[in-house]
Amino acid sequence: MSEKACSTCRFITTGNICPRCRTPTLSDDFSGLIIIFDTEGSAIAKVMNIKKKGRYALKVR
Ligand SMILES: [Zn+2]
Repeated sequence: MSEKACSTCRFITTGNICPRCRTPTLSDDFSGLIIIFDTEGSAIAKVMNIKKKGRYALKVR
């Protein structure tokens, strides 16, 4: 099972639909990986406008 990144919100998932924004626009061509545990205390989460903890790609092509 390969991981894919949502091209809309960059959430990484193994499913066929993004569980975060419910779009099927997933790409297996992504680079970088950040893991957000704490959306309140994370500066990266604020910069990337992430409000749900999980794993995100930095770049999705
Ligand atoms: Zn998404």
